[in-house]
Amino acid sequence: MKDKRPSEMFGELVFSRRVMAGRIPKDVNEKLQAAIEGREKLDNSVAGIVAAAMKEWALSKGATHYTHWFHPRTDLTAEKHMAFLNVDNEGLPLESFSGGELIQSEPDASSLPSGGMRSTFEARGYTAWDPTSPAFVVGNGDGATLCIPSVFFSYDGTPLDMKTPLLRAINAIEERALRLLRLFGNRGVKWVHATVGAEQEFFLVDEELARKRPDLLFCGRTLLGNLPPKGQQMEDHYFGSIHPRVLACMEEMEDELARLGIVVRTRHNEVGPGQFEFAPQFSEANLAADQNQIMMDIMRKVARRHGFRLLLHEKPFAGLNGSGKHTNFSLQDSEGRNLLNPSVSNQKRGLQFLAFLGALLLGTSKHGGLLRACIASPGNMHRLGGNEAPPAIMSVYLGDFLNRLLEDIEEGLPEFGNVKGEIDLGLSRLPAIRSDNSDRNRTAPIAFTGNKFEFRAPGAPQSLGGPLTALFSLWAWGIEEVANRLEANLNAGKELPDAALDVIRHAAATSRNVRFEGNCYTQEWAEEAQRRGLPVAHSTPEALRLFLTPENRSLLADLGVMSEREIHAYYETRLHQFNTTMNIDMGVLASMVREGVLPALAKQITLEGNALSHLPAAAAEGPCGVVLEKLGRLKADLHEAVQRLEALQADLDTLPIEEEAEGMVRKALPLMEGIRGLCNEVERNVALEFWPYPRYRELSTLK
Ligand code: ADP
Ligand code: MG
Repeated sequence: MKDKRPSEMFGELVFSRRVMAGRIPKDVNEKLQAAIEGREKLDNSVAGIVAAAMKEWALSKGATHYTHWFHPRTDLTAEKHMAFLNVDNEGLPLESFSGGELIQSEPDASSLPSGGMRSTFEARGYTAWDPTSPAFVVGNGDGATLCIPSVFFSYDGTPLDMKTPLLRAINAIEERALRLLRLFGNRGVKWVHATVGAEQEFFLVDEELARKRPDLLFCGRTLLGNLPPKGQQMEDHYFGSIHPRVLACMEEMEDELARLGIVVRTRHNEVGPGQFEFAPQFSEANLAADQNQIMMDIMRKVARRHGFRLLLHEKPFAGLNGSGKHTNFSLQDSEGRNLLNPSVSNQKRGLQFLAFLGALLLGTSKHGGLLRACIASPGNMHRLGGNEAPPAIMSVYLGDFLNRLLEDIEEGLPEFGNVKGEIDLGLSRLPAIRSDNSDRNRTAPIAFTGNKFEFRAPGAPQSLGGPLTALFSLWAWGIEEVANRLEANLNAGKELPDAALDVIRHAAATSRNVRFEGNCYTQEWAEEAQRRGLPVAHSTPEALRLFLTPENRSLLADLGVMSEREIHAYYETRLHQFNTTMNIDMGVLASMVREGVLPALAKQITLEGNALSHLPAAAAEGPCGVVLEKLGRLKADLHEAVQRLEALQADLDTLPIEEEAEGMVRKALPLMEGIRGLCNEVERNVALEFWPYPRYRELSTLK
């Protein structure tokens, strides 16, 4: 039994508003809170006092070091720890941490990716405190470190991280949402926040077994291996009872996360054997992005303590479900109202809901390619379009009722004489309809799920910054379109309901291309999408190029989310990451074949050869001889294939980055698939004792 209730542990390692109020003089804290809410700039005298308070608090939690904690463009987080311990002029020890050190620091981060942006200036990067996300303390054994959420930029101020574009996109959407609310007559609303809750899927495998597989160790996924006889066909794992060792591990993860202010509301088995999900309580978007990053980190560490390896890869096992990060999002106003909640009692709010919904449809319709680009990663390519994962084409599923409602509004059907009345009626009926209708279609990448949208395409290891930046940017654009039109209608003397209805009609009609209620897994949809002119990008490099289309570039640049130069740099960083990952995968595969698979095969051949030598000579002409011959052919084929792979890798290495990526997709991937097939054939044909790697069936049965 635990000695503390979860609510008592909650947030004890977070430098929260409450802690600040208790430790910072009132007048200083007021200035700090104003800065946090974006009302005022932080001045240096404030920073000094805050730093001192933060230091004392961190020391009381056992911290010995502090770090500016930031998100470079790799999906990971970066830290450079600095000791609080210092010596004064007299050589006496003291703990020091100044306002200047809190606000900014200069990690020697020259090896972090910048897409070539820094080399043209200088190698140094800087981090700066993001006061809108609270500092926190992470323990490690006896020590602990104060983590200060930060942005990361080059010496000329060009952002080099995921957080800066996200903060800008959040600003862009919040401003525009507020404007639209005002047009709908909401005078009292002070601000709007984007809200996000990301469901985190993951696999756990026994650490001891993972250590015997170079592919799991270095690539986070298996590069070869046969499906177990009982894979996920029975689907009995999903919502089944949780393995006791896993449960113990989850409980410790949850406790650590609770202490860091993160509430895991839901935990359950997922479809794949050894696959699970954590869903946190949603929060403000910037915080949610930080918290998800903390969550992945803590989960990884705690798993180790329980003898597990956490796999966050999008597709650790071929033929089994991959792992995603279903990203739920909405907007909330300062009165606490969810702007995507359709169950409202008055007409104005019903129309307002449809206007916000329509804005997202508009944005997705015009910038769906950006959504495809922002989820393009080396690993997601293996997941999208496979076992229960959303396809690579971006479409929106609204559910039967909403879809019909939009169609009716759009067509202004004669029997819809009193459209407004119908909307009221329809919307007030929605909650009932929603529960059995709106979440059925699991095949759509973006779905309306009752009172929020869910973006299902992001991969499990992705930093939320990328997807959220794209989503909020295109939604911000849509909201602006809607607001402009609404304002023009109002200025032209239309009454609000008519003015709004016209806007919704326009959004509905314009966004037909991305609305799809059918099964997104089918070939018909792929063809239909092509006819509709939706961007269809199968590979990661192809998808990344969608960042560079003129309309996506100008969207990000016009909103001030990313400059043209930054977009290019970001594109290059991502493409480079793709090539690097492919290179590692190729190298690991080649070495596994040479060090493990071929020797196993040789042993089997010797065994069979020996057996044959003990049989009458005629046996060589019979089935035994056939087996031996087959093994020999397999060996020759595999040997030849791995040589080709190594030669290809050397060839591709000489090419410019885009051509290298294309070669990876066109040549390396099929070749690796072929090698995987041959290896699986070997696995099926050698004695248990000869096979050098834990098999799928062992990996998927937790001890
Ligand atoms: P579902 O049944 O669709 O999976 P859940 O209620 O389990 O829905 O929620 C899934 C995730 O969505 C959780 O992380 C939850 O906090 C988050 N979520 C719920 N409402 C909102 C909202 N208004 N904005 C953002 N995220 C939300
Ligand atoms: Mg969900």
